[in-house]
Amino acid sequence: MDTASGRLVAWYEAHRRALPWRETRDAYRIWISEVILQQTRVAQGLDYYLRFTARFPDVRALAAASEDEVLKLWQGLGYYSRARSLHAAAREVVARFGGVFPERYEDVRSLPGIGEYTAAAVCSIAYGQPHAVVDGNVYRVLSRRFDLDVPVDSAPGRKLFAELAASLLDTTRPGLYNQAVMELGALQCVPRSPDCAACPLSDGCLAYARGTVAERPVKRPRRESVRRYFNYLHIRCGGRTLIVRRSGRDIWRGLYEFPLVETTEAVDFAALQRTERWRELFGDFSGFRLLDRVGMPPHVLSHRVIHAVFYRLEADGLPAGDPGLLAVSEAELDDYAVSRLTQVYLEGPDR
Ligand code: SF4
Repeated sequence: MDTASGRLVAWYEAHRRALPWRETRDAYRIWISEVILQQTRVAQGLDYYLRFTARFPDVRALAAASEDEVLKLWQGLGYYSRARSLHAAAREVVARFGGVFPERYEDVRSLPGIGEYTAAAVCSIAYGQPHAVVDGNVYRVLSRRFDLDVPVDSAPGRKLFAELAASLLDTTRPGLYNQAVMELGALQCVPRSPDCAACPLSDGCLAYARGTVAERPVKRPRRESVRRYFNYLHIRCGGRTLIVRRSGRDIWRGLYEFPLVETTEAVDFAALQRTERWRELFGDFSGFRLLDRVGMPPHVLSHRVIHAVFYRLEADGLPAGDPGLLAVSEAELDDYAVSRLTQVYLEGPDR
């Protein structure tokens, strides 16, 4: 057990941020907060959490929702597979556990999208079970405290830090202890220039003593990003436009977007019209008038950079070459969940 646990927990009780998921032992709400916080910072996550739990106050309400509605509420957080897993897990809780969030770690871990971190967080915070959490904040605190240079994102690193975190866990109050370490990483042991003199763990922090704080944690070299070229066609005709639901094993599955022609490099509009995908989408239809071309700043995702261009077109009818095309009124467009990229485009002038 961590000999510094008392200092750490005392620091937490004095400094912790008041957040609604800290005022509850409801495993469902703690789970929702953990999944949202894996996506975003607390300030933005709070807003999503409040909207999500207001609309879906319990697991049954989430299970009964449509996937489109769940994705719409998730819009802007990214990693939509997490939202789909959240929804699928809620349905499993209803089907397998009678709508009551399970208590056994193995049962929690068996739900879609719930990994070791989330299961440990929910089981320790909601049920007081002795499972140590290891997230980015914990990696940072531990790698500095013990001055460890094993890359935290390598297999040996993950194993080492999981074992270390488990050996340090205060089993008399695991939920409180876990939250204290994570909060220390979020507020005190911050990535850049932490104020070590004010830290409850400065006594005995090896990186502080050795002057290696800025070099911890160590990560593996970054993989090079793949570039993708997305050419979107925002087609208008009499107040209506065309959208498509993304499918297949790719980013943004289940979200809606304008008809897309992906190319292997940046191309102009004339070249776009000669692609096979264009023909699949629109057949021989040629009643388009190009109004504008809106190039977006590079959109960075993990290991990918999307170079997107939106072409604004006026059409003298809505072509229906591809069966996936949906004709919707422009006023209804807001009801459909879209990627952050499309959202940014739609928020631009004259859209
Ligand atoms: S002393 Fe500094 S580096 Fe060590 S745990 Fe505290 S804030 Fe982090």
